[in-house]
Amino acid sequence: MKLRLTNLRLELASDETELIRLAARKIRLVPEQITSLHIVKKAVDARKSDSVQFVYTVDIEVNVTKRIRFDPPFVVPIPVPFREQLSKGDRILHFPPVVIGSGPAGMFCALKLAAWGYRPLVLERGGDVDRRCQEIEKFWTLGELNPECNVQFGEGGAGTFSDGKLTTRVKDPRVRRILEQMVEAGAPEEILYLNKPHIGTDVLKPVVKGLREKIIALGGQVLFDACVTGMKISPGGVLKALTVRNQVELPLEVAVLAIGHSARDTYKMLFQKEVLMEAKPFAMGMRVEHPQDFIDAGQYGRFAGHPKLGAADYSLAYQDQERGRGAYSFCMCPGGYVVGAASEPGGVVTNGMSEHARDSGKANSALVATVDIADFGEGCLKGMEFQRKWEEKAFRLGGNNFNAPAQRLEDFLADRKSTDLDEQASSYRPGVTPANIRDCLPKEVGEVLTDAIRFWDHKIKGFIQDRAVVTGVETRTSAPLRILRNECLESVNTSGLYPAGEGAGYAGGIISAAVDGLKVAEAIIRKYREPEAGF
Ligand code: FAD
Repeated sequence: MKLRLTNLRLELASDETELIRLAARKIRLVPEQITSLHIVKKAVDARKSDSVQFVYTVDIEVNVTKRIRFDPPFVVPIPVPFREQLSKGDRILHFPPVVIGSGPAGMFCALKLAAWGYRPLVLERGGDVDRRCQEIEKFWTLGELNPECNVQFGEGGAGTFSDGKLTTRVKDPRVRRILEQMVEAGAPEEILYLNKPHIGTDVLKPVVKGLREKIIALGGQVLFDACVTGMKISPGGVLKALTVRNQVELPLEVAVLAIGHSARDTYKMLFQKEVLMEAKPFAMGMRVEHPQDFIDAGQYGRFAGHPKLGAADYSLAYQDQERGRGAYSFCMCPGGYVVGAASEPGGVVTNGMSEHARDSGKANSALVATVDIADFGEGCLKGMEFQRKWEEKAFRLGGNNFNAPAQRLEDFLADRKSTDLDEQASSYRPGVTPANIRDCLPKEVGEVLTDAIRFWDHKIKGFIQDRAVVTGVETRTSAPLRILRNECLESVNTSGLYPAGEGAGYAGGIISAAVDGLKVAEAIIRKYREPEAGF
């Protein structure tokens, strides 16, 4: 008999071999009657700082003849694994499908198409992960930005240089398959059961390479330095060809547009081609850094620093009823670094990343407030122009060299420039320049964040402190527009074009973008038969 047991609790000092004893006690058996035990989920419960525990869900097999009573939700049958219902369509494809962009949406879409025999061609504007590392290092040390290959663009997409958090609010059976494929590509197995899985930039890089190799082994192709610069659409609204690097015209029937939220030139090209899009709200603000041991102490009390716990995270939210805006912490990176994430000359953008060990000694997180059409005006590209405007202000404020404007959190609240910040105050590279961050934020965003931070200081006591430093500006939280698609996930007015992932406005984060990429691949498979061999 097989069972799933939830809410098995272990103290930090206990060993996981104890689980079998706990499981047996829960169903009134002796440990010897449990023939196998497999951890399905492991989470930290730190709600009581005097008793931090691990909480497990396990699947077990028992060797008994007596019937064991189910006791939902603590003792339940093991759920039947998701079985995919998918069969190929009958429309003939004359050309392999093209996937534009090799972020999580593009990669998982291509992987699925390749596994089903569609031999996709992936076109990525940036370089492969190795060259990308070199270009990014050049940017972070010398301030020399490559607009085609940076933290936003290149193999693996925006998430490659990230904290590699693999959490998502999306409840979808595809999530499990995505994590399994990451493990097959080299990610640690723990991501399959940790409640908050994370792999960090150092692990993500080989995983991304592994996924690429798999796409190729399954018959796909991946081309780097292959920016899609144009599209040929028939007067009847049918996609006919793509232009690559303003030079090569590529005839096709199906293209997946998985371009991420920072491909502003591509958004503009789509606008000129009259592909239907609409502006959408997003959030903007700044990044805050604290000493990691302060965050650990706030979250884990006397257990802070315990080797089994690692660096603690936090999540904060605030609703400003009067101004009608929400504020929240975003993309929190324990033990990480603030990174320069610009993709255009003349604009400073902050974000956060970490290595798998999360051991930089600093905790960083974006603190952002919502902005919408009332802030940037009607028109589908207005949000994007609004982002650019504030990024340019931050660039000038930082000294026109990709240094980020920086300020003590206390000075931000007092609305005054910091005067005594040194280079080590922030982990942001290439460097920081003391400034008043409010000068590169919309006035109301600054005001809402001020109230929110005072509120959060009650949630994490001491959040406002002299070692907390903010840098800005954080604008690339999600896409500033949505590329409209129908129930078959195709563009509403351009047949053959499949907008996917974060840039299309249908996902936010690595895993949800990958899920969306899979859904789009399935939509293509349902409609078309794979192309004949020989193309
Ligand atoms: P992207 O990953 O943005 O990929 C789009 C790809 O398309 C890029 O590689 C780009 O070069 C390419 N492209 C664009 N235009 C063209 C064109 N015209 N022709 C050819 N190629 C093109 N999310 C998390 O879940 N966890 C995290 O810890 C996390 N940390 C992050 C840290 C940083 C520094 C950043 C920048 C993002 C982070 N995110 C994180 C967000 C996450 O990376 C994105 O949500 C996710 O990558 C979106 O996936 P995507 O495939 O839709 O787009």
